[in-house]
Amino acid sequence: MNLSTATPAMYDPLHDACPGPHRPAAHSYWQQHTVSNWPTSNAALPAQAEIVVIGAGYTGLNAALELAERYQQQVVVLEANDIGWGCSSRNAGFAMPSTGRLGYAAWAKRCGEKVARGIQHEYALAFERLERHLQACPQRLQQQPGGYLKIAHSAAAVSLLRSQFAALAHYEPHTRWLDTDALSAYITSPQAHAALHFPHSYGLNPVLLARSVANQAAAAGAQLISHCPVQQWHSRADGRQQLDTPQGRIIANKVILASNGYTPNHLHPSVHGRSLPVLSSVLVTRPLSTAERTAIGFSGEHLVMDTRALKYYFRLLPDGRLLFGGRGAIRGKDANKPHYAEHLLAALARTFPQLQALCSESPAYFWSGWVSVALDDYPRIYSPAPNIFTSMGYCGAGVTFTQLAGARVAQLAMGEQLPELPFYQSPLPRFPLPQLRRVGQWAYYQWARWQHQ
Ligand SMILES: Cc1cc2nc3c(=O)[nH]c(=O)nc-3n(C[C@H](O)[C@H](O)[C@H](O)COP(=O)(O)OP(=O)(O)OC[C@H]3O[C@@H](n4cnc5c(N)ncnc54)[C@H](O)[C@@H]3O)c2cc1C
Repeated sequence: MNLSTATPAMYDPLHDACPGPHRPAAHSYWQQHTVSNWPTSNAALPAQAEIVVIGAGYTGLNAALELAERYQQQVVVLEANDIGWGCSSRNAGFAMPSTGRLGYAAWAKRCGEKVARGIQHEYALAFERLERHLQACPQRLQQQPGGYLKIAHSAAAVSLLRSQFAALAHYEPHTRWLDTDALSAYITSPQAHAALHFPHSYGLNPVLLARSVANQAAAAGAQLISHCPVQQWHSRADGRQQLDTPQGRIIANKVILASNGYTPNHLHPSVHGRSLPVLSSVLVTRPLSTAERTAIGFSGEHLVMDTRALKYYFRLLPDGRLLFGGRGAIRGKDANKPHYAEHLLAALARTFPQLQALCSESPAYFWSGWVSVALDDYPRIYSPAPNIFTSMGYCGAGVTFTQLAGARVAQLAMGEQLPELPFYQSPLPRFPLPQLRRVGQWAYYQWARWQHQ
């Protein structure tokens, strides 16, 4: 596969005015291996709506579902491309009780035990909503139970992981400690020194998840309009929101901005400079042979992530392929350069030297997506301006939490009081000198590479 010619240059939120319409889907394993029946809507863009949701990923679709089902609102979802085109069809499908980059111990240290418990409760609610979407999907999202292994990638990382284990006893008592010997029953790798096993996490097919929520939202009465990017947005003096798209203009009483890492830099001044869009990349290999699976000692359905600052993660897919992910390029125009797939392949080869032959082949699939990183490591669900509501900044961990966050931002738009938790109490902080965000990102990547080889 020639990666440089297989996919056109990627949309870049910090450079391009708009992500659509009619951009092709990512060349992803999920796109090729999922038969998806999306809800169809041939309806024309209405001139007015009570609420418009911008972006049809998990956040926007869950917001639309909540608005239509619980509040019987007239809701129109505008998506720049196909439904679920952004991260929600591109991710690795790790469903875990988390978002952002802070664990329970970090939350307890920053905000106290009560807040950490409240966050734990929110994660439980997010899993309940995910379970609902799983039940609504005839293929049950192709769920792969087996839990998540957080693996110390070096001997030096073991003591930090062990201290995390001690802190977790309060919150996740089912978590197990696996020393090197115990871990060898799960995986054979020179980069596996000890691990935490979280039994309740699972793998899923992200496209099936997006489709499940989209179908439920459409059945509840939400109007989903694809290939309808918001190109201009004007907040009028009367408080209403005027949105211009290639299909015409729509005036809304309220807008929920659910464009997350794909938000064009200048779409609306109220959110400008408050998130860093970061490319995350994934490759999928050909199916492993029985001998290869035996050699790496990894045959189960576990999700695996390591302890690096810039993490690598992997899982075996139902058809025996290996999915392996990590950071991508910094700029959209570089995303599809072979170097980035090669970088991941080299990391895979270091994780499993037994797979030298596999790693000398081109991967069967390689793709990237924009995640939204918040300056202080956790997302916000808030109102950045009158009649505008948003939820973004999941820092690359949104498969589970967006199921709740979409509902929460809808509740906020309907005037409900949200729980007194940091997610809901402040705006996303603005990056200092936002025009230099990528310089800072580059410097961070250099530091992380030096720190966590
Ligand atoms: C490679 C990769 C792997 C990942 N793996 C995991 C994982 O295993 N587990 C996990 O928890 N998280 C993972 N994530 C993150 C997770 O996918 C996201 O947090 C989640 O999908 C965010 O959903 P969303 O609806 O907020 O945003 P998105 O799904 O990105 O949706 C935003 C949508 O807004 C649309 N849009 C943008 N601008 C406009 C406009 N002007 N007008 C109309 N529409 C617009 C876009 O087209 C897009 O479809 C991964 C992400 C990537 C890229």
